[in-house]
Amino acid sequence: MNTLRAQLGQTDPDIFAALLAEEDRQRRGLELIPSENYAFPEVLALLGSAFTNKYSEGYPGRRYYGGQENTDIIETLARERACALFGAEHANVQPLSGSPMNQAVYLGFLKPGDPILAMDLSHGGHLTHGAPVSHMGKLFDFTRYKTDGEGRIDFDKVRALAKKTQPKLIVCGHSSYPRDIDYEAFKAIADEVGALTMADVSHTAGFIAAGLLNNPVAAGFDFVTTTTHKSMRGPRGGLILCKKEHAKTLDASVFPGLQGGPHMNQVAATAVTLKLVGEPAFKAYAHGVLVNAKALGKALAARQVKLVTGGTENHLLVIDTAASFGMDGAEAQKLLDQIGLTTNKQVIPDDPRPPMRPSGIRLGTPAPTARGMGEAEMESIAALLTAALCASDREKVLPALAAEAEALCGRFPVPGL
Ligand SMILES: *Cc1c(COP(=O)(O)O)cnc(C)c1O
Repeated sequence: MNTLRAQLGQTDPDIFAALLAEEDRQRRGLELIPSENYAFPEVLALLGSAFTNKYSEGYPGRRYYGGQENTDIIETLARERACALFGAEHANVQPLSGSPMNQAVYLGFLKPGDPILAMDLSHGGHLTHGAPVSHMGKLFDFTRYKTDGEGRIDFDKVRALAKKTQPKLIVCGHSSYPRDIDYEAFKAIADEVGALTMADVSHTAGFIAAGLLNNPVAAGFDFVTTTTHKSMRGPRGGLILCKKEHAKTLDASVFPGLQGGPHMNQVAATAVTLKLVGEPAFKAYAHGVLVNAKALGKALAARQVKLVTGGTENHLLVIDTAASFGMDGAEAQKLLDQIGLTTNKQVIPDDPRPPMRPSGIRLGTPAPTARGMGEAEMESIAALLTAALCASDREKVLPALAAEAEALCGRFPVPGL
């Protein structure tokens, strides 16, 4: 590995310098973006492995090119492990990332113009759930449900919209919703109107696998989609679970419908990830993430910080920075960057402000927990964050807070670096 790095440094000093700088940034800073995490070291090793070189269009046992004796092994294991972990009947591990994974479900099971009911982006949904700026948002007739005044899913509203719009598919799941989801309630509504069901658990798959959050497979969902790189700490990629009756159509939708050759280095890394996620050490990690999120929420609330829905049941928190600190999320994100706390600006339910200057920021505990931080550190993070956002004499206060944050990070090495 070291000789490879030395070679890279010689071949392309510019890229090598950027790599070193990025490693340094990740070590010295605190990653609080809830969709980010540190991939398992085994994942990093496989992503740079010989599997990168192989074309494997098709599925195990039915490939277009020769030389598949090893790729068939890894993809079969990945599929079996995914099914065992979530209790699913079928798994497709080829989606190149989260966006094509959701597209594969829409394009494989619906016709252009078909009605779909999904969660509004500003209420916690994802771009790929039919946001008007996305191609899918234009191709299908999305209706977007919103949360109630507290920021929670309002099932009476969802049911009324489902009855009115008669969707072919009901989508739930989120990128910014701090509560667990009642999948059975969604399934009951879908059954009332004869809709298919899809849960996009990209943010929460690790906690579902660990048995700590509700499992949409157990609730009888037709499709469960998830990225592999967020709470599960795998490679960047997508995974789709479905009922057996949908398996053939789904596989054809991913390939050849939407994609060409799968990235076999990613598939190999997904297989290892699914093995690790099934082990007791991961369960302890996932539990730690949720305990830390609650502790961070409590520590922030104790400092009069206003949180959407008042707290969290999962790994993420949304702070209303406008109400708490009189500043928009973009300004808060920039200030926190200056002390080494990486967060992202976030629209809040019914946000009166524009997306580039929304009312909040989003925080999560997957990455700090992966570094080994616990409840005491969550208290420190809450103190640093509020001190930075309340500071009146920024030039004096921010450098001191930055030094404190760096010292905190220095005690917790980044896995894999
Ligand atoms: C991250 C995410 C995606 C998209 O994944 P990409 O890999 O960025 O394309 C889809 N859905 C949800 C809910 C997500 O959080």
